[in-house]
Amino acid sequence: MRIVLLGAPGAGKGTQCKRIVAKYGLLHLSSGDILRQERVAGTELGKKAQSYMDSGALVPDEVIVGMMAGAINKASEAGFVLDGFPRTVHQAAELDRLLKASDEKKIDVVLNLQIDEQMVAQRMTGRRSCPQCGAVYHIENLKPKVEGICDNDGTELIQRPDDSIEVVMNRLKTYRRQTEPVVDYYKNKNGSTVYDIDANKDADEVSALVFEKLDALWL
Ligand code: ADP
Ligand code: AMP
Repeated sequence: MRIVLLGAPGAGKGTQCKRIVAKYGLLHLSSGDILRQERVAGTELGKKAQSYMDSGALVPDEVIVGMMAGAINKASEAGFVLDGFPRTVHQAAELDRLLKASDEKKIDVVLNLQIDEQMVAQRMTGRRSCPQCGAVYHIENLKPKVEGICDNDGTELIQRPDDSIEVVMNRLKTYRRQTEPVVDYYKNKNGSTVYDIDANKDADEVSALVFEKLDALWL
């Protein structure tokens, strides 16, 4: 099964992807996580991405498509959930080309997490992440057992630098301009299955909606 999760920043893509992979045994491919790992490792790719990420702009398509092609090819047999990619119509078309080139594969389902814009700032500025295992928490909505500490490995949680209110507002503008059209790309594409999911609800309710759709496809 090959799944794409779409949605504005803070819609809960990462949170739901982790639950999907735990339930269905797929691989989680997060373009944002891969970029952050490249930055920590100090690679050329990481250096190239830095200024775009810190300002809330998109990293150029050619950089991202090359990076994701490698990850997708490796995960293709096991099945995967894409989180944060594709983020432009060009990336979506390149993804189709890539899958088609490998044994006529395609995206099986797109889950579009819909969140009201006034929810975004609260979600993003309250997000805390584990730099060790990548677990994601929220200071009010999804708290760790001990404040500031990861439940999985006891590491001190961090706030992503691009979760400041100024950068979040830029990321929202970037989403509206460049990523929202990707929803229509999939909706207008013959043979693709797109589900709109109300992502304003609490995380367990959103998961229940997501699992209901995926369980039906798995039968
Ligand atoms: P995205 O990957 O779409 O940017 P995340 O999954 O990282 O979003 O979620 C953003 C923040 O909102 C995190 O702090 C997360 O714990 C919290 N969160 C995710 N889903 C929900 C939800 N349904 N209700 C409340 N908070 C949520
Ligand atoms: P995320 O972790 O998904 O919120 O992504 C963090 C940042 O990484 C974004 O604000 C972009 O700068 C960059 N990024 C992640 N995925 C992509 C993508 N598919 N295309 C372009 N830039 C991306």
